[in-house]
Amino acid sequence: MWFRRDLRLADNAALTAAAEADGPVIPVFILDPETEAMGAAPKWRLGLSIADLAGALEEAGSRLILRRGKAREVLEALVEETGAGAVHWLRLYDPASIKRDTEIKAMLNDAGVEAVSHAGHTLHEPWVPETQQGGFYKVYSPFWRAVSPMDVAEPLPAPKKLPAPDDWPSSEALDDWQLGAAMRRGAAVVADYTTVGEAAARDRLDAFIADAVGRYKTDRNRTDLDATSNLSENLTYGEISPRTIWHAGRRAMEEGAKGAEHFLKELVWRDFAWHLLYHTPHITEGNWREGWDEFPWRDDNADAERWRRGLTGEPMVDAGMRELYITGRMHNRTRMIVASYLTKHLMTHWRIGLDWFADCLIDWDPASNAMGWQWTAGSGPDAAPYFRVFNPETQAEKFDPKGSYRRRWLAGWEGESSTEAKRFFDAIPESWDLSAEDTYPDRLIALKEGRERALAAYKSHTADGRKEDAA
Ligand code: FAD
Repeated sequence: MWFRRDLRLADNAALTAAAEADGPVIPVFILDPETEAMGAAPKWRLGLSIADLAGALEEAGSRLILRRGKAREVLEALVEETGAGAVHWLRLYDPASIKRDTEIKAMLNDAGVEAVSHAGHTLHEPWVPETQQGGFYKVYSPFWRAVSPMDVAEPLPAPKKLPAPDDWPSSEALDDWQLGAAMRRGAAVVADYTTVGEAAARDRLDAFIADAVGRYKTDRNRTDLDATSNLSENLTYGEISPRTIWHAGRRAMEEGAKGAEHFLKELVWRDFAWHLLYHTPHITEGNWREGWDEFPWRDDNADAERWRRGLTGEPMVDAGMRELYITGRMHNRTRMIVASYLTKHLMTHWRIGLDWFADCLIDWDPASNAMGWQWTAGSGPDAAPYFRVFNPETQAEKFDPKGSYRRRWLAGWEGESSTEAKRFFDAIPESWDLSAEDTYPDRLIALKEGRERALAAYKSHTADGRKEDAA
């Protein structure tokens, strides 16, 4: 059983299939080059998830074998050492995983070993929803209409038994992998905001369904309320399956919880992101829409560095950027606000923001991150039009009406700084040389000026013969 981004025992079709086959099950996690390439925070958080899974497997009378190297070589060696007759895993749909897994399947088949991949990372396989013309969806609403009536398989229970081999193959030690090395000071702070592992994810879902789901539709955009499920962190490492969440949401809906359908719609946005990544893999690297490559976005620059450090002088933006650094997560509404500010007011390429999120988010997901950035920037599918420039001030009035979100995360802004806001200074690199006593900076750019500059660039870009409809 090859674990990857599915670090759970329940509703794991690959593990169930391995357990139901004759013979022992050898669970393995491989630190391969694709995993090594992860950003600082998600890689550190992955380590916590691996440790939790290893504990759960021990409790079930099994073990997690850890090996480092190219997945193909590690699996080849393990098959040789153990005489395994089959390798099971749950499918992933990003281009690097597809390439790696296709090669591994061929290698195993050549060696006479069964290679079985299973569904379960998403609600539906990304190729299943098809338009009437047989194509893929580029707009969310018809995707939802196609997907919402489809059956979603009931989640599988954890296997009752995981037969152990007589001799376990050797395992490396998780600590030796140093998965948190790049987090440095940040780990101790972010650790207080993580909810790790399968059991904790399940509790999180139950608590959300028992209470906040009913208010989800009205409150989900309020940055000052804890009104969303926070399950993205657990979905990222597969500590809980999307099918488990779907069925819990459906039951809540049938029992009359008002916000439950809206919650399911949001969950389906995640499937939509994987659908897009599968069909248009360039979404993570290049402009999804044609005609955007010439858009005069700036490369990395000093203003973008101030954005990263939460020093733009725009309180709602800086609060979001600091929430990100303190917790490893950011409210969805603020993600849109900071992304709009970077790509529009600061005229900086969305890729700069995407990379920063990939380094800092403990819920980093290649599909949702790429879709979120390109949606906000205007270059993506079903995107917010470029001329829709989020105004951080009016957004704050609506979604943080009393300023408590900003006060929670932003030290030095309006009155006494909160204890949580001050933790930013414990988490950031010392080289940033910032302290809680610093005065809050002036605005990098007046909002009106930034907006007009962005719109002028957009207008001349479209006047330049691009096919963007600016209407
Ligand atoms: P809830 O509101 O409780 O929603 C339940 C689940 O639905 C989420 O856990 C998530 O899996 C899914 N979901 C909700 N909203 C979205 C959305 N807009 N897009 C895709 N799926 C969604 N999400 C990530 O998981 N990883 C990322 O790296 C990521 N990067 C983003 C970058 C930008 C610029 C933007 C605008 C959004 C990004 N999102 C990302 C989407 C969204 O912000 C998070 O999924 C959401 O904030 C997670 O909080 P929650 O679990 O409380 O969500």
